[in-house]
Amino acid sequence: MSENDCVFCQIVRGEMDSEVVHDEEEVLAFQDIGGQAPVHVLVIPKQHISSLAEIGDVSDGVAKRLLEVAHEVAKKMDVAESGYAFRINNGPDSGQEVFHLHAHVMGGRKLEMP
Ligand code: AMP
Ligand code: ZN
Repeated sequence: MSENDCVFCQIVRGEMDSEVVHDEEEVLAFQDIGGQAPVHVLVIPKQHISSLAEIGDVSDGVAKRLLEVAHEVAKKMDVAESGYAFRINNGPDSGQEVFHLHAHVMGGRKLEMP
């Protein structure tokens, strides 16, 4: 998939609406439209990479910020203490549907694996 028709690139470019939770130079966090928990936010690198298979294409700083922003979002959404899941789906068996790397930050209820 090219960046032109990638839905998350469209959100980054402001061509598609989203409810932004956190915005900085290289990382964006926004509400998941299909919220599966009281808190369900997606954290993405603004640079298009399809999955963790391409994590080497972003700088170490961006990779680290993804993790830090996830926790900052959890704090902002008031689930850092009650707990939250950080999940990145990669490839068919994971159920990945959008092929722009994104981390789900989910909380506000008891979560189970998987
Ligand atoms: P995944 O299965 O990990 O690829 O998850 C894709 C997630 O993106 C799902 O939870 C969708 O609800 C969410 N999603 C898809 N399109 C949008 C959108 N335009 N804005 C916000 N979230 C979206
Ligand atoms: Zn993209």
